[in-house]
Amino acid sequence: MSNKKVAIIGGGFGGLFTALDLSGNAEVTLLSDSDYFCFRPLLYEYLSGEVEAWHIAPYYKELIDERINFVCGAVESVNFDDKKINVSTRKEALLYDALVLAVGGTTNFWNVSGAEEFALPFRDIADADELRNRMSKALDLVSPTLAPQDARERLTFAVIGAGASGVELATKMSDLLTDAFQRRGLKGEPHVLLIEMSDRVVPGMGEEVRDYVERTLREKHIDVHLETKVLAVKPNTIVSEHNGKQTETETVATVWTAGVKVNSLIEKLDLPKDENNLILTKPTLQVKNFDDVFALGDIARVEAEIEPKLAGTAQLAFQESGLLADNIKAFLSGGNLKTKRFEEMGEALSLGTHNAAVLVGGNVLGGVLARDARFALYTSRLPTWHHRLKVGASWFFEGTTPKPLQPLGIS
Ligand SMILES: Cc1cc2nc3c(=O)[nH]c(=O)nc-3n(C[C@H](O)[C@H](O)[C@H](O)COP(=O)(O)OP(=O)(O)OC[C@H]3O[C@@H](n4cnc5c(N)ncnc54)[C@H](O)[C@@H]3O)c2cc1C
Repeated sequence: MSNKKVAIIGGGFGGLFTALDLSGNAEVTLLSDSDYFCFRPLLYEYLSGEVEAWHIAPYYKELIDERINFVCGAVESVNFDDKKINVSTRKEALLYDALVLAVGGTTNFWNVSGAEEFALPFRDIADADELRNRMSKALDLVSPTLAPQDARERLTFAVIGAGASGVELATKMSDLLTDAFQRRGLKGEPHVLLIEMSDRVVPGMGEEVRDYVERTLREKHIDVHLETKVLAVKPNTIVSEHNGKQTETETVATVWTAGVKVNSLIEKLDLPKDENNLILTKPTLQVKNFDDVFALGDIARVEAEIEPKLAGTAQLAFQESGLLADNIKAFLSGGNLKTKRFEEMGEALSLGTHNAAVLVGGNVLGGVLARDARFALYTSRLPTWHHRLKVGASWFFEGTTPKPLQPLGIS
């Protein structure tokens, strides 16, 4: 094992998988501002109770062994000349011979008035907990004697952005709320609004998937508003504009899935970046003009032809981590660094608690079978064999049935 120091900032798809690949080949330190990894593609299933926190957000200590040194704390700055990293939880700076930047993205509210203050992000376990809590609280305030129109008004939720994330979230919320209406004997149905600025849902996806998604949104009575711009978010109200006409809609909660921007640490670092603040890397994933600094995942833009659909995805960060780990080994041993062509590994969308869409060989597989296929696919992508086996066994023997939105206080 080399005694060279490799520091990896960020323990998500890019950082954690790089650390696991490098383990035993150098003195690896993984730095993260949280003590658990989050498998974000299954966050919708966590919201609905189909999966539990330990399935998708395992603690790092359960995933890594003593060959990886884990430091919990937010990295505040990096000195690239002295090769030093300052972490919020440590007095001493950390030194490195090779550095990996993998801090991922954060919700982009696009400076829409009130959005950051009053809309909920949906990126982590705490965000899903907050949303589930708001849904349960709002349901608790609706009585079975209330007229259908009033119940619908009091249970209006808005999801902003109809990309994959917005569609997955809206369908999951709709199924959960509809189920709660039936269980609690409420009249009518909930109102889930899906607001999109462009003229189509899932704008980045192919026609086959879009057709299936549109049909599902209609079946679930999701109120889709295309070519509609959100101008402001106020407490329990959104102001939107369509064809020059402004509308104010009262909501229990507004969830913002319309955009990602780079983490604030990256904004501060003096590195070559593009117009979106993405760090520019060579095809070897080395930052341009900084051979000992590597970047990957949501914060990086590789100077090579990459399938546009792959940008900002876990599947890209995951594929990059393999190349990056190999290149760090080569960098530390004076070998040749490689490049790689990243492939599209398929599209899989969650569409409610009992449905999904999976694109297989140009055809869309839908329904319960697709839901199961998506679960199987994601089990295979969880980190470490040990965790995969534990989670796979739990899903096989205990099932993945959604947990109804219970009145608060009843679990
Ligand atoms: C709800 C949701 C669903 C998604 N579904 C899919 C999907 O189905 N398929 C898909 O391909 N992609 C999906 N994505 C996108 C995917 O999650 C990201 O592209 C992927 O996580 C990017 O990996 P990353 O390593 O760049 O960043 P992340 O996985 O976000 O990891 C970044 C890590 O850095 C840590 N960190 C941040 N700042 C600091 C700091 N200053 N100091 C220390 N640590 C820090 C964070 O805590 C985090 O652990 C989804 C995203 C979301 C939000």
